[in-house]
Amino acid sequence: MRYVSTRGEAAPRDFESVLLAGLAEDGGLFLPESWPTLAGEEWEALRGLPYSDLAAEIISRFTGDTFADGVLRDMCRDAYAGFATPAVAPLVQLDERRFALELFHGPTLAFKDFALQLLGRMFDHVLARRGERITIVGATSGDTGSAAIEACRDRANLDIVILHPEGRTSAVQRRQMTTVLSPNVRNIAIKGDFDTCQDMVKAMFNDAPFRAEMNLSAVNSINWARIAAQIPYYVYAALSLGAPEREVAFAVPTGNFGNVFAAWAARRMGLPVTALIIGANRNDILARWITANDMSARPVTPSLSPSMDIQVSSNFERLLFELLDRDGARTAATMRAFRETGTMPVPDDAWQGATSLFHGLAVSDEDTISEMRRLHAQGYLADPHTAAGTAASHACAPEKVGVPIVIAATAHPAKFPDAVEQATGTRPELPPHLADLYAREERFDVLPNDLAAVQSAVRSHARRNG
Ligand SMILES: *Cc1c(COP(=O)(O)O)cnc(C)c1O
Repeated sequence: MRYVSTRGEAAPRDFESVLLAGLAEDGGLFLPESWPTLAGEEWEALRGLPYSDLAAEIISRFTGDTFADGVLRDMCRDAYAGFATPAVAPLVQLDERRFALELFHGPTLAFKDFALQLLGRMFDHVLARRGERITIVGATSGDTGSAAIEACRDRANLDIVILHPEGRTSAVQRRQMTTVLSPNVRNIAIKGDFDTCQDMVKAMFNDAPFRAEMNLSAVNSINWARIAAQIPYYVYAALSLGAPEREVAFAVPTGNFGNVFAAWAARRMGLPVTALIIGANRNDILARWITANDMSARPVTPSLSPSMDIQVSSNFERLLFELLDRDGARTAATMRAFRETGTMPVPDDAWQGATSLFHGLAVSDEDTISEMRRLHAQGYLADPHTAAGTAASHACAPEKVGVPIVIAATAHPAKFPDAVEQATGTRPELPPHLADLYAREERFDVLPNDLAAVQSAVRSHARRNG
């Protein structure tokens, strides 16, 4: 299995090198050179497997010979053993045709644990074999940082430094990061906003000597391995509802297009998926694209679903490449135009092709609240991101799509207690493993918006220097 870049200039690589590199040298994103597909009886053979074994079967189609026999399966078992329910990704029926696929039973209560718990283990395994050590640096506005820290803590071959904007994450989100006191974890609160943190991370990556000295690496959502690790739960849900004989639709609250692209990939592998419904919030670039081929970035404004407060959906480039018949030069030109003008000129025929599969809706804060209230009245407590997904599934599912709709429930309601309480009057409780979160010791540095100061903090932290 080899990987190509969406911009067509980078040399093909294997899975291991894609895992470590993240982004291709030409600025593009990696995709498999050809998609693996499964036949009817192969899907059926997966039905009934425990989640982690099913995940290993699917992911092994993408990892080539990076892992010896049995290694990937053991990593998956280990990664998902830490989830709070044996089902790992339980499916809860909401009404006659709707099901919530609960992706929030991992250690940090959001779906990002599915990919990052596995990635931490993949990194450590590959680095040990290569005799290398890396420093992971990332910026977070909330959920990614805690999932990455939880996945990397105490791993032998990597150190991790996460920057967050001082005072701008929720208390739950901050404490999920800053109460991890493992020696290989360091949190830095930056005096600035999320963009300040993000710019600082980019500057560190662009500083070639520093990058080489620290052996910097990233775990952000453009890493192909993250998408690959998100495909299995769509397969698991569809098989539970009767695939490959029966079709399903998925509704996904998404901002960066990562999670919905994983659903697209499952379909590309042969899973019978009739519709992909995107739930957006007021930052509605994806919904505007699907309804009107208007992919123009506007300023980001805060919403009740902060993990979707995004106007540049980095993973969209993967779909674009596919819509343009895998023409890297055209993909690169389209992305360049987007960067220069703020509007992405997706050709009409490519867009038309996508509209038969994709549907999208921008859900306002008011509608998110009333959807949470409605679900609660029916006995289901949803977080605001999940509610955007269910609301979109009601508005967009065309009647002809008479198939079950699976909504990706991306966060635990206790991760966003204020919004949930505002909508339902019920304040969700943190699950047992986090019940004492507010009593735990926090540790983090506060640094000014000063690259040199942050670089020196990273340098002193990285054990490769120690
Ligand atoms: C990250 C996140 C999302 C958005 O995921 P994409 O990568 O943009 O698809 C949605 N909901 C929650 C709770 C998240 O943490």
